[in-house]
Amino acid sequence: MTTTQFNVGTLLQEPIGSRREINFQPDNSSALFLENTLSFYGVLEMIKIQRGVLVSAKLTVPDVPLDCSGCLTKFVKEIKIEFQEEYLPLYNLKTNRLLPADEDVFRINNRMMLDITEAVRQYTETAIPIAPKCREICAGICVYCGKDLNQSTCTCDSSEQDNQFGPLKEYFK
Ligand SMILES: [Zn+2]
Ligand SMILES: [Zn+2]
Repeated sequence: MTTTQFNVGTLLQEPIGSRREINFQPDNSSALFLENTLSFYGVLEMIKIQRGVLVSAKLTVPDVPLDCSGCLTKFVKEIKIEFQEEYLPLYNLKTNRLLPADEDVFRINNRMMLDITEAVRQYTETAIPIAPKCREICAGICVYCGKDLNQSTCTCDSSEQDNQFGPLKEYFK
């Protein structure tokens, strides 16, 4: 398992524009901690900028666990993410003074480790569709008997199923 943390101590000493490229292979992917352990693959580039390190990532997270908005079944979906984020050290590199930054800015820790886990998690969550579907056309669940209509049909009257009010129909008579 590849790490999601990189020592950028040397990179931070190098001239602006110096870069590192890291390739994550699908079969040797990094751990990403959402609710479960996930993996991802793709390319990560780290570039030395004046204040710290600019990270550009193009990653695929192959197994994001989701709940189908139609039938409520759990399934996994491949999510592709792309981001560019600045990572700033805790201390000003020249003066060694504490370098204040907004809370939402990513930081390089005091052991010069740059950790991409949180960025990958945030961008993956943002990329999840609002109403994920387990398949292109999910048949959903029957509003009368609760059966998953992708698995089986039910004996409920289909003309009633077409009624969008479902069991509330009587109410509107
Ligand atoms: Zn579904
Ligand atoms: Zn039914």
